[in-house]
Amino acid sequence: MAVLVTGGAGYIGSHMVWELLDHGEDVVVLDRLSTGFDWAVAEPARLVVGDIADQKLVEETIERCSIDAIIHFAGSIIVPESVADPLGYYLNNTVKSRALIESAVRTGVRHFIFSSTAAVYGTPQANPVSEEEPLKPESPYGTSKLMTELMLRDTAAAHDFAYTALRYFNVCGADPKLRTGQSTKGATHLIKVACETATGKRPQMEVFGDDYPTRDGTCVRDYIHVSDLVNAHYLALERLRAGGGSLMANCGYGRGYSVLDVIDTVKRVSGTDFAVKRSARRPGDAVSIVASAERCVSKLGWKPQHDDLEEIVSHALRWEEKLARRNRL
Ligand code: UDP
Repeated sequence: MAVLVTGGAGYIGSHMVWELLDHGEDVVVLDRLSTGFDWAVAEPARLVVGDIADQKLVEETIERCSIDAIIHFAGSIIVPESVADPLGYYLNNTVKSRALIESAVRTGVRHFIFSSTAAVYGTPQANPVSEEEPLKPESPYGTSKLMTELMLRDTAAAHDFAYTALRYFNVCGADPKLRTGQSTKGATHLIKVACETATGKRPQMEVFGDDYPTRDGTCVRDYIHVSDLVNAHYLALERLRAGGGSLMANCGYGRGYSVLDVIDTVKRVSGTDFAVKRSARRPGDAVSIVASAERCVSKLGWKPQHDDLEEIVSHALRWEEKLARRNRL
């Protein structure tokens, strides 16, 4: 029995691979290496380079490696990019996920964990946002993920198949042992960008919009440590294998920080007063979104270990320094 991790050479996927290996699981990674790196895939996980929509490859891999569960991370994740290229996002995130789900059904893989997103809620009526909140994505990215959730729901109703869709809030930080971290080139996510600026990889960074109706005028997000996030997936896997049935749950801590809070924390932890420019709002950004984390805790028995912004930033910074040393070699 082995677990297939799509996108396992990427940021969250590479942490998932470590989490599974740490629990003694046999792991196979499927990744086309468009944004991920082969060196990010931990030994002894096996790397298959290819596309999730290549059904021949996927089904052969499932049969050959005795896959009993799929954890599906592969996809595109940048909100403004999805606004500019909606059809690219619907292809990558929705159409290709459909092919992967079909391969799972055809080969009898009954457990499927999907990386969904808080972007399915758009700007919620109230925070913290529960799973029952109306689904009103404000970007093609959010819609592309919501459509995959709906395909999973309907597939589970029709076949011997159960899924867990985890709706991620803002994933950040790095493995505390620094075995992996976020290595994406041209990353756009706030903590990564701020850490790159603090370590001198960028001359300055921008704050996208400071006239939002929030405490300090900048958008508010629920930043969750990647190691806590992948642990929720491992618990979801155990639950599915035990016959727990399908589940959809938020993955966040239930508290929000503004863009300026994050930048201040990165400045404080790094001891660097880097340049920050105020810029126009970025298309597709929701004003404020914070998770209600109750379902993840009650259904999965999730106990976050790294719910501390300074700790998250310190792991992200240490990874950035390690990457800089690595790139100089
Ligand atoms: N943000 C920013 N400057 C950056 C990157 C992000 O001001 O260089 C803001 C962005 O506009 C949003 C918040 O930080 O309000 C979180 O953005 P991110 O891209 O990290 O995650 P998202 O919530 O879009 O998934």
